[in-house]
Amino acid sequence: MASVAREFDCIIFGGGLAGTLLAWTFIEKGKNPLLVNKRDLSNCSHVAAGLVNPIGGKRMNLVWEASEQIPFATETYQKLGRQFRTNLFFPRTILRLLSDPESREIWSTKSKLEAYSHWIQNDSTGEAIKTPSITDPFFAIQGGGYLDIPHLLKQLHVDLEARGNLKNERFDYSNIEIGPETVSWNSNRAPIAIFAEGWLGNENPWLSFVPFRPAKGVIGKINSNIDLSNTAIVDRFFLIPRNDGSIHVGATYIWDKLDESPDPESVLELETFLQRYLNDQWEWSEIASGIRPSIPGAKPIVGQHPELKQIFVFNGFGSKGATQIPLFAQRLHDHIYSNYALPIESSPQRFWKENSKPSKRWIAFEIARHYVLQNLSFGDIAIDATAGNGHDTLWLAKAVGPQGHVYAFDIQGDAIESTRRNLAKADSSNRVTLINSCHSRIQNFISVKTSANAIVFNLGYLPNGEKSVITQAETTIRALESSLPLLLPGGILSIVAYPGHHGGDAETKSILDWYQNIDCEKFAKRSLTNPSGNPNSPIIFFLERKLPNNQEKSSF
Ligand code: SAH
Repeated sequence: MASVAREFDCIIFGGGLAGTLLAWTFIEKGKNPLLVNKRDLSNCSHVAAGLVNPIGGKRMNLVWEASEQIPFATETYQKLGRQFRTNLFFPRTILRLLSDPESREIWSTKSKLEAYSHWIQNDSTGEAIKTPSITDPFFAIQGGGYLDIPHLLKQLHVDLEARGNLKNERFDYSNIEIGPETVSWNSNRAPIAIFAEGWLGNENPWLSFVPFRPAKGVIGKINSNIDLSNTAIVDRFFLIPRNDGSIHVGATYIWDKLDESPDPESVLELETFLQRYLNDQWEWSEIASGIRPSIPGAKPIVGQHPELKQIFVFNGFGSKGATQIPLFAQRLHDHIYSNYALPIESSPQRFWKENSKPSKRWIAFEIARHYVLQNLSFGDIAIDATAGNGHDTLWLAKAVGPQGHVYAFDIQGDAIESTRRNLAKADSSNRVTLINSCHSRIQNFISVKTSANAIVFNLGYLPNGEKSVITQAETTIRALESSLPLLLPGGILSIVAYPGHHGGDAETKSILDWYQNIDCEKFAKRSLTNPSGNPNSPIIFFLERKLPNNQEKSSF
């Protein structure tokens, strides 16, 4: 029986803080939105500290439109708190430490600006702080605090689901249809779609012109017997005392390793910070990480798609979500329904160029890395079948940690040397075995008993190297055949194939034939192509060895 289409005023994709508060705002204003959200898909809002700080960042700039955004945000959270009979926003005095000469110099200029005076406490001596270790100069910021984002999201999701405005489902761009008058997803229809999927918007085929610069952040909670009472401490990182007695500490910025697990380097940075201000009087209770949907210029991206009138964007709030989302949610609503003019500084138009090529942002090897990393933990074994300059070898080495091991193959000595240099620079050489040989001979070097959690093939030629040496269909297929027996149950094999260059075309065809004949009983399969449809774009293939008894374990 065909299901009856359900009609909404809009379909919002992505239920982090942005999409969820947007759905709530629309309901408050009498609209009927559908929020589509698969929990767990991106962690960002669930781990964020929710800090609202009028004077943020290294350069201590006043938050954009602080005097409008911050009061609006805090009032919104109070209103939500009343709706759910709970406290969601907790005011905090923020001590901004000036621990190095550079920050003192920046502040000596900024502090004279009239706009700052509203946010600076003049009478503060910081006496509330009982930590003995603060010897640096500081100034105290008023008007900030933190939003308990996980608590708010939980409340709102339950409420939205009960009203029939939330679907807890993973969405796939290929199931979203953008027609001239309507947008549909499964059996749901609306005149417009609003995308609020955070950093995952990186893969959104309609938003390929947006230069997302996702930044991973590691953040944790500690217990400490030092009482910060209601004062947060901010330097390069922050310490925010929470209502439940724990303290949030964070957050690092990592641009090149977009897995959602905390990396040891970040943890160490945070520990150094903690030692400085809390000495030994603290212990971890939780360490987590998430990926912020940052965009160059530190302004969000809110408004209509420059060409597709049925598509809107509500994204890019980076680390200022708790501050900026409430007012922007209202503005977007008023823009759609009452012609309110949105600020041009945050318009999608600012990134649009006439020649914005849809394929530009579809970076196949990054997508492959994203899925492979979901399968890797410390202590694992990984194989890079095409080391090249060692970029893949390096992220594999970091993902398996000091107790894990990576085997990296390349037929060219130059590539092996280049990989060796890159590993040495990152101090990761000791956990990698470099093998200067054809990957089809993989089983001569690695016994089937040494099962691998991940095997990565990034085909083609060596970037910046000899372009005539390319991977060849015949040896690639033999290498793939020999690799499968090495894959552990639950282990993943990824292939990035490049049909766009000479020779790559035939190789891609052979891989496709081989892939189609792989036994689906034993392996879960997924292939990804560029949504732009460009036939020269790379193709990604994944195979995951199924667990015994057909237990589900899907990385994709
Ligand atoms: N993963 C690399 C890029 C790979 S380029 C990086 O991140 O930089 C493809 C590499 O495969 C080239 O370095 C090439 O020398 C290597 N190669 C080509 N044929 C091969 C074969 N039969 N066995 C092993 N490596 C091969």
